Amino acid sequence: MSSTIVSCDQCKQDFSISMESRRLDFTIDLHYFSCPHCGHEYPSYYTDTAVRGEQRKVKDSWQRFRSIKDIAKREKIHADILVRQKRISSMIDELKEKMCAGSG
Ligand SMILES: [Zn+2]
Repeated sequence: MSSTIVSCDQCKQDFSISMESRRLDFTIDLHYFSCPHCGHEYPSYYTDTAVRGEQRKVKDSWQRFRSIKDIAKREKIHADILVRQKRISSMIDELKEKMCAGSG
């Protein structure tokens, strides 16, 4: 497995990204990675309950996809996954805009 190596803006040391998440309020999670050298945090994206619900469905669909042998059914599931993933990424974009709009 390969992991992405980045250089920290703060301390200029290299580290490999490992994603973490933290609940910001009852519905919003912040997904981020942090520098192990200086602890600087890099926010990556936000998820809310709707996004996480969709992500769970995608995960379930992948599991179903792997367990099914029928090609036609697999294609149907795969198409469904692609649609959902597209929806998830636009939901994440919207959420990011909302969170970056600042207070108010
Ligand atoms: Zn650092």
